[in-house]
Amino acid sequence: MDAKQLKDLLTVDDIISIVTKDLGSNGNEWDSNGNPIFQTICHNPPGHGKYKLYYYVDTKTFVCYTECNIHADIYELVRVVKHLNSFKDAYYYVANYFGYDGSSKELEEFKEITSDWDLLNRYDDINNIDNSAVTTPTISHNLLEYFSPICPEAWYKEGIDVETMKSYNIKMDVSMEKIIIPHYDIEGNLIGIRGRSFNELELAEGKKYAPVYIENTMYNHPIGDHLYGLNFNKEAIIKSKKAVIFEGEKSVLKAQTFYKDNNFCVAACGSSISDKQVELLLSLGVNEIIIAFDKENDDIIGSEKTVKYREKLETLAAKFSPYVNTYILLDLYQKLEYKDSPIDKGKDTLEFLLEHKILIPSFSINRTKGRKNGKNRKI
Ligand SMILES: [Zn+2]
Repeated sequence: MDAKQLKDLLTVDDIISIVTKDLGSNGNEWDSNGNPIFQTICHNPPGHGKYKLYYYVDTKTFVCYTECNIHADIYELVRVVKHLNSFKDAYYYVANYFGYDGSSKELEEFKEITSDWDLLNRYDDINNIDNSAVTTPTISHNLLEYFSPICPEAWYKEGIDVETMKSYNIKMDVSMEKIIIPHYDIEGNLIGIRGRSFNELELAEGKKYAPVYIENTMYNHPIGDHLYGLNFNKEAIIKSKKAVIFEGEKSVLKAQTFYKDNNFCVAACGSSISDKQVELLLSLGVNEIIIAFDKENDDIIGSEKTVKYREKLETLAAKFSPYVNTYILLDLYQKLEYKDSPIDKGKDTLEFLLEHKILIPSFSINRTKGRKNGKNRKI
């Protein structure tokens, strides 16, 4: 077993075990994405630091959100905490702790391990990380060079133009049969890479949209902490003081094709909207939000399906309605097919639905307390 294999083998429980029982963190807390948070044993004596050392399960990386700002995998953390001289010593230490002993053959394999460090070094400069809040680790933009700069024909045929795909860095992984969709935070830092698969096996397994792997590393990110397209469209949102929220990335790309610099659309990348996503939009000073999710109603007013879907949209709208004018799009006009995005039938249909948007009034004025950019609305 080499260091990479051992690292891949270690579960979150293993990590918690060694960090709390051996490296000296007094237990652990959890963040909202299920990542454990430890005391900052990286720069404090055991049992003394604050809980600001995050372990990102997807990248197997520790990040200390203080001035220390260490980015380390388990070996590097062990090396620092146990004052070991080398990566090799740290690997032996970890292997030993979990009951594996490194053989000489494993030692020979150390040359391969350097690729681990290359990947870790690709994380952007620590200075780019805002220490005031927990942020998603960023990825070097160079990583996108891994993929072919080809615009997918399937999306072109669906009405997304080449200029849009180029500006959003849409690429192809031809061997993996995937459209590559880079995800950025509001500042334009690359934080995740998702793929739209055309591979029959993956589609059969329901993996149409999934994070992309490069050399065994999965480039996923907490999707609910960000809004797809916001880095590109925040100026248009600030200028127009409104935003449309779609479910999927493709809808934002279609809107970009139609509206260019005036595109004020973003995607939640899922069928819910998180508090962080709400904060992101409110922080831009919007006064109108339009929720434009995929059609899940039938075309009958009052049918069980329609009522249920409307309730779902109203629940999402309630996150914004105490602060800004909030609308939902509900296709009761047989303009869309089931599961269509409101933009899937073209610009005219989208604009028809926008003209028929439904205002969701707020019934919870008290919730505006403490909100800077919000405003009260009379009911
Ligand atoms: Zn630290």
